[in-house]
This record gives sequence, C-alpha cells and structure tokens, in this order.
Amino acid sequence: MKLLSDFDGVWTHPREESRVQGEIVDALLIEWAPAHLRDGVALWVADARRAVLAEPDRYGWAPGGRLSAFADEDPFAEHSALLHYIHLHAGEDPVAAALHDAVLAPGHDSLEAFGGAAHAEAVARVEGSRGPGVLPSAAASGRRMLDAGVEIVVVSNSGREKLDRWFAHAGLPHVVHPASEPGALRLRGGARKFVLDPGRVAIERFGELAVETARPFYESILREEAPDAVVGDVFSLDLALPLFLRRTEPAWRHVRLFWLLHDYSPARIREQLARHAPEVEPLPDGLAGVASALLG
Ligand SMILES: [Mg+2]
Repeated sequence: MKLLSDFDGVWTHPREESRVQGEIVDALLIEWAPAHLRDGVALWVADARRAVLAEPDRYGWAPGGRLSAFADEDPFAEHSALLHYIHLHAGEDPVAAALHDAVLAPGHDSLEAFGGAAHAEAVARVEGSRGPGVLPSAAASGRRMLDAGVEIVVVSNSGREKLDRWFAHAGLPHVVHPASEPGALRLRGGARKFVLDPGRVAIERFGELAVETARPFYESILREEAPDAVVGDVFSLDLALPLFLRRTEPAWRHVRLFWLLHDYSPARIREQLARHAPEVEPLPDGLAGVASALLG
C-alpha cells in the first residue's frame, strides 16, 4: 500500500503562515506604491481581496496567467489571487497598473515571483517564532500508518529542506527521495504541482468546476510512483489530475482519493465534488481519517 501525500494542509494547518504572508504582501504593496496613491492603497487592496473571493473561478494561483488553483481553495491561494487581480486589471485600473510596476521595480521578475518570495519570508518568520508546524495528530497518524507498513511519499511544492526540518522536529523518520527506507517517509519537495504545461491545455469539468489537469511535473511523479491512494487539501493541485487518471486509465481505477476538509475548504467545491466526483472521499478528521480508511 503506497500513499502519496501532499504536505501543507495535510501535515499542517497553514493559517499562521498564510496570515503572515498576507501581512507581508499588503505592507509591501502599500510601501512600494507611488506616494500620491499610497493613502488609498490599503482600501484598494481590501476591495481587491473581496473581489477575488467573490469570483474564485476567475482569480487564483495563476503562474503565467493560467489558473492553477482557485482563489478560495486554501489560505495561500487568496494572496496569489490578489496578485493575479493586479495582473488582470493593470490595463484599465491605474492603481493596479501602479502596483504592478511597483512590484517589478525592486527586481522581482513577475508578480508570481514576488508572491513566492513573500511566501518564503512568511514561512521563515513563523518557523522562527513558533517553530515547525507539523500537527501532533498528523504525526501520530503518520506513525500509525508507517508502523502498519504503509509506504508514504510526501510530494509537496514546499522545498525539501523545509520538509526535512519540519518532519525532524516532529520526530518522524524520513529520507529524501530517491533514498528510501522501510518505515520512513520519503520526501519529494519542490514538486511544482502548480506548474501547467505551456504547450497544452487540459481542462476537466466536474459540474461547475473547470480544473486544469495539464501538470507535467506532477504527472511524471504520479506515474513514477503509481500510488494506491493520494491525499491532499487542495482539489485542483492535488487531486484533479489523479482523478482524471483514475477515470481514464485502468491501472488507476483502484486508486483512492482523499480530500482533507478544513475550515477553509470551499462549500461550493464540496457540493460540486459530492455530485460530480463521488470518487473523491472528503475527510473531516485529517490524516487520522486516512489512517482509518486505509487500515480499518
Ligand atoms: Mg496542500
């Protein structure tokens, strides 16, 4: 039994890292705005944040301009969606245009790169004050599954060093891919699940949800690992592609798909998946639910 697991939002609850990332993004946008606009920028940003959450299908984590995750899918996506909003409105909104230029001026290659830098800074700050954030309940469930012989490979957009430090802090045995060891997690960081294929569009529809599944880096890891189960907290990033494989390829038909529900899991996505993707098993109790499902 092999479980392919996401990291953030599966082994952690990302509320602190996300809160700090939001503070960093907003503070820098205000600081970098041209002086004559600065007084109005805080209000503008608050309005833009409301706008992206009101249209989560339009705004989100959009590297290169294509939507990889919806604005409401996890607490990080909202910050990316704010930057996506700036990108989309820079042509007609003078504040968006000014903020777009202001972000690039200090040397960020793109709004996306700025978002990534703010994310890394937020994680470093939270880790510095609170320490690593693997949840004790997740660690206990991970240990239970490892002890029972479940092979667990952690495939995350987060970097390998962070995964290594955070699991070490939680006292969970782990090795870095391609090394492997029975009874230890195998870590595959920097997985770039969010990266979409520049040469191919593959939108899958699940009721009202239209999700991009052309994710070449994630697909090659999925095919290499051939897991029996996949767990994640963000449907678009973690589960849409394995669900597509399950529906189209016999070798994937048995693969279980666990979606961990949190306070941030969008009700609209729950509703659409319940109706149009019954293969996805929503679990309200984190990795404990996964352990129960796999081990009985
Ligand atoms: Mg996640």
